[in-house]
Amino acid sequence: MLIKLMTKIEIRNLSKTYPNGTKALKNISLDIPMGMFGLLGSNGAGKSSLMRTLATLQEVDSGTITFGDINVLKDKTRMRQIVGYLPQEFGVYPGVSAERLLTHLATLKGIRNTKQRQEQVKYLLHQTNLYNVRHKAVSGYSGGMRQRFGIAQALLGNPKLIIVDEPTAGLDPGERVRFLNLLSQVGETAAVILSTHIVEDVAELCPHVAIVSEGRVLITGSPVELMLQLKGKIWRREISRNDLSIAQRRFKVIKSKFYLGRLVIHIFSSNCPDNACESVEPDLEDIYFCALEGLVQVGA
Ligand code: ADP
Repeated sequence: MLIKLMTKIEIRNLSKTYPNGTKALKNISLDIPMGMFGLLGSNGAGKSSLMRTLATLQEVDSGTITFGDINVLKDKTRMRQIVGYLPQEFGVYPGVSAERLLTHLATLKGIRNTKQRQEQVKYLLHQTNLYNVRHKAVSGYSGGMRQRFGIAQALLGNPKLIIVDEPTAGLDPGERVRFLNLLSQVGETAAVILSTHIVEDVAELCPHVAIVSEGRVLITGSPVELMLQLKGKIWRREISRNDLSIAQRRFKVIKSKFYLGRLVIHIFSSNCPDNACESVEPDLEDIYFCALEGLVQVGA
């Protein structure tokens, strides 16, 4: 029998309505290739709903997901054997050490052979740089350590796909860098879906992205290709803080932020809007805001 290679996850026409009537996913179709994939969207866009569905933890109204020869929504047991999931919030038992908790979770994941389990727990504690603090309670860990523990538990059983939901929210800058480094290391040997509202996380790590908003995929592709679409169309201008609303009436302002005490705006325009504007290379944040405004095309 020919086994279909696990080269991408194919999501087709996925819709989800919660019992209170909220339509969290609206006919989503998306191909997720292997490697690091960034799912970018503001809070409430539907990212967690999609991640929980991929992790087989939630039912949908309609649609299909296939990963290689696995029908993800039907064959949950097989999918669970190859997926690791770090949810937005994961509970830990108070007072239980990282080593004990990871060993317990390894048993739940079906790693029954004691020696194999011990070896894998030891390996993952090393990989996530928690080996020296393995006897300490996870409940007393810092945010960054806890997220690294979250990755260790997601990697139990050598999953082919790892899903991480908003992993850097609440981490300080040093912890964030350490965590992203760990994630990119993981991405060398498995597919990783990184769901986040933080554009920089995705820009630094992901060769493929999808931008979602209000339950729909607005755009998908590689950041480099998407940036090409906007080349020559993003303009930077400094204005005084009081002039923002005037600028918003005059120009298509896609973002504004303070830089060294001055307000800097980015404008979308095919031509130079005025001589106080300078052309800038678009970045992923420009793509993100243009996508939200409907200024770039789907599947570019
Ligand atoms: P994100 O992860 O992008 O923040 P979510 O998937 O959590 O988005 O949420 C998408 C929408 O679905 C939001 O409007 C949210 O309020 C709603 N939602 C999420 N979970 C539930 C739930 N269990 N019951 C009802 N509505 C929900």
